[in-house]
Amino acid sequence: MKILLHTCCAPCLIYPYSFLKARCHEITVFFYNPNIHPFLEFKKRTETIKNYKEILSFPLVNENKYGLTEFLQKIVFNESKRCSICYAMRLEKTATLAIKQGFDAFTTTLLYSKYQQHDLINFLGEKISIQTGIPFIYHDFREGWQVGIDEALSLNMYRQSYCGCIYSEQERYDKSFKKP
Ligand code: SF4
Repeated sequence: MKILLHTCCAPCLIYPYSFLKARCHEITVFFYNPNIHPFLEFKKRTETIKNYKEILSFPLVNENKYGLTEFLQKIVFNESKRCSICYAMRLEKTATLAIKQGFDAFTTTLLYSKYQQHDLINFLGEKISIQTGIPFIYHDFREGWQVGIDEALSLNMYRQSYCGCIYSEQERYDKSFKKP
């Protein structure tokens, strides 16, 4: 199958990419993450994915445009639903691009992270698949959690310490901050 694999960051790509590749799928990686703030963090994660591409030589579609405005326009006043909106933004864009460029299916490395809302990502992926008509590949990539970490460490790959948005950055470092 020709699969468009949305990736949130290089460390989360390691296991899903190797899993799908080992099953003979043709993979193109799509980096689209308007949720990543601030700008220098976005640049750092973009550079990390480009460096990983140099190692594995996978086709990469890289959304270089910094999506701060686009992201915040959807999130502000909807903070309590921010992860759902954030997942949907990225999955919808991936499905749309997959259809446009003739892929057979789409999926996301968000299904790898133990820190993400796994069932919600799967639900949204299926929903967008029904709406758009392109299959969503579900797999519980969390099974390869340690494999991905070990490989990232061996490559000396940059591993971020918070999810991406400015809210998650505060949650990570401000112990008094409570999720809305
Ligand atoms: S915590 Fe992560 S998934 Fe949730 S809105 Fe922020 S960047 Fe997106």
